[in-house]
Amino acid sequence: MNPAFDVLVVGGGPAGSAVARTMASKGYRTGVLEEHASSGVPTQCAGLVTDKVIRTSGVSPRIYNTLYGAEVVFPDGKSIEVRSASPKARVVDRADLDRLMAEAAADSGAEFFYGDRYASHSVSGDGASVRSASGERLCRAVVGADGHTSAVARSMGAGPVREYVRGIQMDLPVAADRQDVFRIRIGRKYAPGFFSWEIPCGDFTRVGLCTSWSEGPPYEYLKALVDDLYPGAKPAAKHCGKIPLGGRGLTYGDRCLLIGDAAVQVKPVSGGGLYPALRAVPMLSDVLSSALDSDDLSAKRLSRYERMWRKDFGKSLDRAYRLRRMYVRFSDEKLSRAGAFACRDDVHAVLNDIDLDDPGKVVGRLMRSSALVPGLLLLARCLL
Ligand SMILES: Cc1cc2nc3c(=O)[nH]c(=O)nc-3n(C[C@H](O)[C@H](O)[C@H](O)COP(=O)(O)OP(=O)(O)OC[C@H]3O[C@@H](n4cnc5c(N)ncnc54)[C@H](O)[C@@H]3O)c2cc1C
Repeated sequence: MNPAFDVLVVGGGPAGSAVARTMASKGYRTGVLEEHASSGVPTQCAGLVTDKVIRTSGVSPRIYNTLYGAEVVFPDGKSIEVRSASPKARVVDRADLDRLMAEAAADSGAEFFYGDRYASHSVSGDGASVRSASGERLCRAVVGADGHTSAVARSMGAGPVREYVRGIQMDLPVAADRQDVFRIRIGRKYAPGFFSWEIPCGDFTRVGLCTSWSEGPPYEYLKALVDDLYPGAKPAAKHCGKIPLGGRGLTYGDRCLLIGDAAVQVKPVSGGGLYPALRAVPMLSDVLSSALDSDDLSAKRLSRYERMWRKDFGKSLDRAYRLRRMYVRFSDEKLSRAGAFACRDDVHAVLNDIDLDDPGKVVGRLMRSSALVPGLLLLARCLL
């Protein structure tokens, strides 16, 4: 076997392009298989990211808006605004982000094969053979960055995803009154098992939601929300997607690593996947480079990647997933009670500091604040 590539990355989304850029920059022969004709379409994302994500992406995508906080509306209609003086998030043009990241990878020397769908791969002692719509390619290692329904994960035998939620969103040609905060609604009426979002983007508003898988297709919920709150508005664009949550068996195998949605590196409370995916890139690249250099691409050698990312942010994903499992069990009445607790001045002050890349940290801060312990215990008794 004489492999044409050191690394074949499957998927030209943000995770795949970031890995391809890093590996090609280090001098490895890197190819990218992408089933669509270009990167970034179709778009399955609200585009809500922090500045940290934009910095890590290494590109400057078009920004629709800057947000300083969020208004959270509880099932009983009461709401709380969480905000800070500095920007909490930007709304980026996700198609632009993906396209620019792919261009940066290509500029670094990665070779992109667009319109070529990966089917499966097999591994032997001296390489991996990747089968796709256009035929067969040989490489030394495969990286599965092929998103939530990863065929690479299936071929590698990575085990099932613990849970999926379904998402849907529309861009409505309506300018929101307030452009500095986005709105989240929780409760069974619009988004059972997750939340809905209304994101101001200048002259349009991005309205979407996710629901637990067991609730069926989410379109009827979005239709109800739009009919109630934006009557008569005709969507300019509509997107659907799935978000994998709660982890999957393994993210490494012989000559194979998974990253991003394929590895279920997704924040379970918000459904955000860009931050963890990009955070995993240097870890994957370090492990893969040293494995290529020593010509040991065994699962045992590559397992260091999983240990690294789990140590770095895996625990926070696990904690957040436990929170999510509690959240889905709460009735609307209990969620409203939690809302009343969140409105207390001392709790509100802590919530204003929330870091969207690690929202679970705020729970830790609440627990550590002794003044809040009696209130938290009371809340726990009401909720659990
Ligand atoms: C409705 C919705 C809203 C979201 N909003 C946000 C948000 O605001 N902020 C945030 O951080 N995250 C958000 N997410 C999650 C985010 O979009 C994902 O976590 C992110 O796209 C993961 O990046 P990735 O590169 O791992 O996968 P993807 O972006 O899914 O890229 C995978 C790529 O692989 C390609 N591919 C798949 N199968 C094959 C194959 N067999 N052969 C070749 N190519 C293949 C696909 O075409 C795609 O280009 C949202 C998700 C949804 C569904």
